[in-house]
Amino acid sequence: MLERCAVCGAEEFIPYVCRYCGRTHCVLHRLPENHECPNIQQARAPRQPIVLERRRTGTTLRLIQSPRMNLMPRRELVALSTAWIVLAVSFSTRYMFAWFATPIALLEVFLLSMIVIGTGFLGHELAHKFTAQRYGAWAEFRLWTIGAIMTLVFAAVSQGTFVFAAPGAVYIASRSSYIGDAMDKKTNGIISLVGPLVNVAAAGVFALAYFTLPVIGISGIIINSHNFLPWAIFINLWLGAFNMIPFFILDGQKVLTWNRAIWALVTIPLWLATAAALIQLS
Ligand SMILES: [Zn+2]
Ligand SMILES: [Zn+2]
Ligand SMILES: [Zn+2]
Repeated sequence: MLERCAVCGAEEFIPYVCRYCGRTHCVLHRLPENHECPNIQQARAPRQPIVLERRRTGTTLRLIQSPRMNLMPRRELVALSTAWIVLAVSFSTRYMFAWFATPIALLEVFLLSMIVIGTGFLGHELAHKFTAQRYGAWAEFRLWTIGAIMTLVFAAVSQGTFVFAAPGAVYIASRSSYIGDAMDKKTNGIISLVGPLVNVAAAGVFALAYFTLPVIGISGIIINSHNFLPWAIFINLWLGAFNMIPFFILDGQKVLTWNRAIWALVTIPLWLATAAALIQLS
């Protein structure tokens, strides 16, 4: 025997039983407002929390979507910090083998390396990230585990004289790449070039300090303490020069693919300046 709708009398194979009045209805009259439900007030009451919940969800969504939160997920912060420490350890390695390496001197060198790499490495990677985001792409720094291990191994084997500075990279994806609108060579080239340019700029600032501070008369501690400024200049030039090598995932490859002249214009003077800074150091 088929159930009949309490409103229109239609026979229903799968009748809808109203949870507020208990009567059976057809699909058209199943909602309390469509069958003049005697308990419609009760039916409306439970909706309040849902509306409130929606508002609450709305607030949460707005928080998640705020640029401040989107700027840097926790995973990315962990990756950046790890890469930062790996590089600071690698660049400090040469002092571990030096005759004057007391634990305190080593700690000083490590902290100075953190500062120099803070400007050099983090500045470089964040420049990639924010430029890519300006072009509307998704961009996140990820740790490259093999690269991080290679960085430490090269530093240990060469006693800190060669630092393979590639513990990670900014991964970039065009939001619309899946519909065939992949990022063009020029955009890719510009996003790649800004990283090394940050290193050139940082080296320039440190060089300016190196040449002007003695003139002002405050050469003392800053310059003599572990050769800080010459090291800051060299490490930034090295980070820029290394990344301009046109190889594999390095920035130089993408810049060269975009424009050979721009690649040469930046890379050749950068390599010469790096060599000059290295000679100055040793
Ligand atoms: Zn009905
Ligand atoms: Zn009802
Ligand atoms: Zn780079």
